[in-house]
Amino acid sequence: MTIPFDLLVSQVKLPGSGILTDIGIKGGAIAAIGSLAGASAATTFQAQGRLLLPPFVESHVHLDTTLTAGDPVWNESGTLAEGISIWTSRKKQLTRDDVLARAERTLELFIGYGVLHLRAMVDIGDPKLTALRAVMELKERYLERMQVQVIAFPQDGIVACPDNEARLEEALRLGADGVSAVPHLERTREDGILSLRKAFALAQQYGSLVHVFCDETDDEASRYLEVCASLALSTGLASKVTTAHANAAAYYNEPYFQKLLGLVKQSGISIVACPLINSVMQGRYDASPKGRGITRIQDFRRAGINVALAHDDIRTPFYPLGTGNPLDAAHMAAHLAHMCGRQDLNDIVAMITHGGAKAMQLGSYGFEQGAPKLGDPASFLLFDAAEPAELIRTRCAPRYVFSRGVLAAETQPAVTKLMNAADGRMAIP
Ligand SMILES: [Zn+2]
Repeated sequence: MTIPFDLLVSQVKLPGSGILTDIGIKGGAIAAIGSLAGASAATTFQAQGRLLLPPFVESHVHLDTTLTAGDPVWNESGTLAEGISIWTSRKKQLTRDDVLARAERTLELFIGYGVLHLRAMVDIGDPKLTALRAVMELKERYLERMQVQVIAFPQDGIVACPDNEARLEEALRLGADGVSAVPHLERTREDGILSLRKAFALAQQYGSLVHVFCDETDDEASRYLEVCASLALSTGLASKVTTAHANAAAYYNEPYFQKLLGLVKQSGISIVACPLINSVMQGRYDASPKGRGITRIQDFRRAGINVALAHDDIRTPFYPLGTGNPLDAAHMAAHLAHMCGRQDLNDIVAMITHGGAKAMQLGSYGFEQGAPKLGDPASFLLFDAAEPAELIRTRCAPRYVFSRGVLAAETQPAVTKLMNAADGRMAIP
């Protein structure tokens, strides 16, 4: 008996085992895996042995500030303080169309690089919530192609900027998926704790996610990760809580850090590291040798804590670089975290796939044991690579991106030809 598929993808290479197989897709889900030669399908796609991976997950990116570097001025010092100053004045000029155009371009970049699940940070410092409303609009518009979660982010604090508390709640009423806080930027340690209590209380009330900008500083006295973990336990929000950055953890004394590991593990929260921006933002005040700007991702992971890597800013007043390729963040993390062992590199790829999926609390991501199974969403990437670890080196875009059984993006590989090569061979990019 032949099974009528919407799409039959022939000869994909499964990660891990390296086995070549066919995949039958129906109704946007994987309906068959195995040798499907001769099966009928509306469309057949020849994968030609390309490596199959689940979609990439971007678990922390700012869609309101995106693509504004140099508009109207550049951050010449490169510091967080100058970035905040530039953004504070730029955000007064935000319009719906301005945000929509830049955010949409950013989503397109991400899709091209294989990101089909994305958690967007949106500053709610504007009384009209212009940026948040625009990003919520995009979230709906992109439902068929990618999943966008929206986090209401109080850049100016919650206690330091009391209006932000009501705006966070308004954002949740408008359908935002979660709330944030920036405890280390509040005026005092006590205000930082109070800001977290307020954010967690709102999340409890609305059943939302929590995504805290946590200890994004080289100050070893910044200890809000323990407060987040403790609140995750006491509120029962547990794995719905994510802490991003956690840079101060790199400076904690060892007895304290070991105690913290146990608490964070018990709480079930995730850590999201943002190695690109933090590699240039952190360590600025260190005497040489300078800190590496990354939290202790190896130690968190070894302790059984979920770790994700995020690209974060793309050409903003805070970070003028960035492409939207999660492999850039992975590549930076491999260096800063001393993770270039064979298994380390595969683990790093897992941090931009499964780690991100867990942080985002995606219920139907699929590829649970590393390979697809029947019923998983037919959202996957096909790469010109032998194994996941190779992607960290090449940082190539996926050759093909499928979203729910539909081809969403294709990238032609760049080809370099050496004009003076005696045998006319192509150089390998
Ligand atoms: Zn960020």
